Amino acid sequence: MMFKENLAHLRAYDPGLSVEEIRKTYGLNRIVKLDSNENVYGASPNVSKAIVNAALLPALYPDCRDSDLRRDLSKRLGVAEEELLFGLGLDEIIVLISRAFLEAGDNIVMAWPTFYEYYCHAQIEGAETKKVPCDKDGKHDLKAMSQAVDPSTKIIWICNPNNPTGTYVNDSELAGFVEKIPDDVVIVLDEAYIDFVSATDFPRSLDLLKNHPNMLVLRTFSKSYGLASFRIGYAVGQRRLIDEIDKVRPPFNNPRLSQVAAYAALQDQEFVKACVQKNSEVLAMTTAFLDSKNISYFPTQANFIFVKTDNPKTVAEKCKQKGFLINAFQAGVRITIGKMDDMKELLKVLEEAISETSAEPSL
Ligand SMILES: *Cc1c(COP(=O)(O)O)cnc(C)c1O
Repeated sequence: MMFKENLAHLRAYDPGLSVEEIRKTYGLNRIVKLDSNENVYGASPNVSKAIVNAALLPALYPDCRDSDLRRDLSKRLGVAEEELLFGLGLDEIIVLISRAFLEAGDNIVMAWPTFYEYYCHAQIEGAETKKVPCDKDGKHDLKAMSQAVDPSTKIIWICNPNNPTGTYVNDSELAGFVEKIPDDVVIVLDEAYIDFVSATDFPRSLDLLKNHPNMLVLRTFSKSYGLASFRIGYAVGQRRLIDEIDKVRPPFNNPRLSQVAAYAALQDQEFVKACVQKNSEVLAMTTAFLDSKNISYFPTQANFIFVKTDNPKTVAEKCKQKGFLINAFQAGVRITIGKMDDMKELLKVLEEAISETSAEPSL
């Protein structure tokens, strides 16, 4: 069989052992999952009530246009209903954007490290990826990114705040960058963590859309709303862009239960506010601890923090043996900000793991 040549260098997503398998393998009573930036406080109680009713229509296809959700969200965001595109998680939105724009010979520009899916789907469509290393502070190197743009560049991905570093591009930095980018290159701002942002100079991206027909803003219900299992996210952009991407969307991509869950979650802004507040309290405790132990990290605007370590794989493994799942990257570990008590316990485990491994050679 002759698969697409571009697939040769890709690996399927490796989820590793399931939480239950890890629990058994490591002989643990309890696992604290801090590896996927899920909402550790769950979701609004509105959601479970709403989906019970919606579950009564299993045989019918869902609303192809996500009408109720679309109407409500457009009012909240102050954008037209036609300026929204819903996907099966932001993951699918990334697939759709890649499908709509990329073919062999094209390229995308993105930071490194950043969200892996941008690269993955460029690769599947046969496009090249220009990975521009983050600077020493873990921030997008916007100067180098603008210099990487060439006549074959179709999409620039800006993950803001950036996953996994947690750093952000501020309003003036973004404005200066956008000015340098040709009008026919699509600039995508992935704002999966927008609700956790506290910086007052964070870009007002929805306002920028008015003057930038080549810009898209992506958001999701997976993180602050705690609906990761429902897989629902969306893009906002001018109509010309949204209409074109909509052509590659499978018509019934969002299950009824997901639409209903997202709608119900939107009605409970108090829940999100409370999660954001708790996140900021636990984050303050976390950075105070790391500072006191001279453990370095990148300042974060999200519900996770990137801690710089030698031997990140070994550090993550040692935390796993104690029941804490965190994520290893090349230059450190990414940790979801957990609940206060869990986080205090994890930080002790982390400190010990870091001091034990700093003397060992790399894996
Ligand atoms: C989690 C995440 C996504 C994917 O979100 P889903 O809506 O769950 O698919 C996209 N981008 C970034 C930066 C993320 O961290």
